[in-house]
Amino acid sequence: MVIIGAGAAGMMCAIEAGKRGRSVMLVDHARKLAEKIRISGGGRCNFTNRYTKAENFLSSNSHFCRSALARFTPQDFIALLEKHGIRYHEKKSGQLFCDDSSQQIISMLQRECAAAGVDWQMPSQLKQVEYLPADKESQYTERKFMLTTERNTLEASSLVIATGGLSIPQIGASALGYQIAGQFGIHVTPLRPALVGLTFSDEDFIGFKDISGVAMDAEVSCGGMAFRESILFTHRGLSGPAILQISSFWQPGEFLHINLLPQQDVQQIFLMFRQSTMMLPNILARYLPKSFVQAWCATVLTQLSIAVKPMNQYRDNELREIVDNLHDWQIIPTGTVGYKKAEVTLGGVDTHELSSKTMESKRIPGLYFIGEVVDVTGHLGGFNFQWAWSSGYAAGQVA
Ligand SMILES: Cc1cc2nc3c(=O)[nH]c(=O)nc-3n(C[C@H](O)[C@H](O)[C@H](O)COP(=O)(O)OP(=O)(O)OC[C@H]3O[C@@H](n4cnc5c(N)ncnc54)[C@H](O)[C@@H]3O)c2cc1C
Repeated sequence: MVIIGAGAAGMMCAIEAGKRGRSVMLVDHARKLAEKIRISGGGRCNFTNRYTKAENFLSSNSHFCRSALARFTPQDFIALLEKHGIRYHEKKSGQLFCDDSSQQIISMLQRECAAAGVDWQMPSQLKQVEYLPADKESQYTERKFMLTTERNTLEASSLVIATGGLSIPQIGASALGYQIAGQFGIHVTPLRPALVGLTFSDEDFIGFKDISGVAMDAEVSCGGMAFRESILFTHRGLSGPAILQISSFWQPGEFLHINLLPQQDVQQIFLMFRQSTMMLPNILARYLPKSFVQAWCATVLTQLSIAVKPMNQYRDNELREIVDNLHDWQIIPTGTVGYKKAEVTLGGVDTHELSSKTMESKRIPGLYFIGEVVDVTGHLGGFNFQWAWSSGYAAGQVA
């Protein structure tokens, strides 16, 4: 068999197929192995999430991922790490990271591939894929894929596509997997960058450009989903875990709703200070970063035509508007920072075209799609790697 893409899913599939005695060739066009694993989780790879459930994934078929996730679980991956003596820790909400470096995961997968007798062709470009179906008349003619790479021609009874998504083209992401799906008439759902920072218009955001680097706790909601984590101001807009999470659910033209003080009742705070001669920003700065308060007053209060003044000089309706805007700041992103910065690609090979048990195409026997190229996208927190391991394992049992 041939696997195109030696990332997380491709290597996992190669290991499992190799263990079954299959002759496996891993083909990748990158010069350096598994760069996405290396840069993930800030260099420590958030390799899984202990609490992985189907509900942590977006897909046009929300049940598709269940079978694979149940057959290769976070505990199975943890057992592999422990077998290799790799130390790890839980950061929060089940997110597991290496203690030292993500390179340990890459080396572990390399060692497992070597033990399973996997062959490599890397770096190597795939030029052409041809499919010769089994001849139904003759029991001797089996199906085969003929692959032309820049180095040679490969023949395989199974072809596994593990080319990942479109994010971070600088380190080797390409559209090849989607193109191969297209070549075989396999539907690909619409693609867009996800787990990605959002951009805003100058009008809405100019005052915040100077506070790039400021982070704060917030609850961000949109499209019926809400995430309570930190948000980060950047030169181009907003990022940070809560924004990355919501970016997968946000549709162009929709408002984001941001509760800037989810842990406080601003109305109660204002009641406490109602008769005070303190200036509003000084009161808010007790609960929010000072630089943010200044930027927020300069931008949002200006848009509301409310002046900055001592608390006791505000009218009740002005305070109500301020409370509403702090608990529900409504702002429309102009877009995302794109694939150059996105962690994943939302959408992919349509799951209705694949067996959820094996990842094999229902129409083209012997053709498999695994990992991020499939229309299964995890939330932030180790879920995308778990999908790569689980789907790679599923295909590795049969391909
Ligand atoms: C900055 C960043 C941080 C991330 N952090 C995390 C994290 O901490 N936890 C988490 O769960 N997820 C994280 N992710 C997402 C995670 O990296 C991916 O979802 C995961 O790597 C997908 O695995 P994959 O095997 O499907 O694809 P990849 O790991 O991307 O592997 C695809 C492979 O295919 C190869 N390839 C592509 N095109 C071709 C071609 N034309 N010819 C030959 N080979 C090709 C590539 O070179 C690559 O080696 C992060 C992503 C990014 C960008």
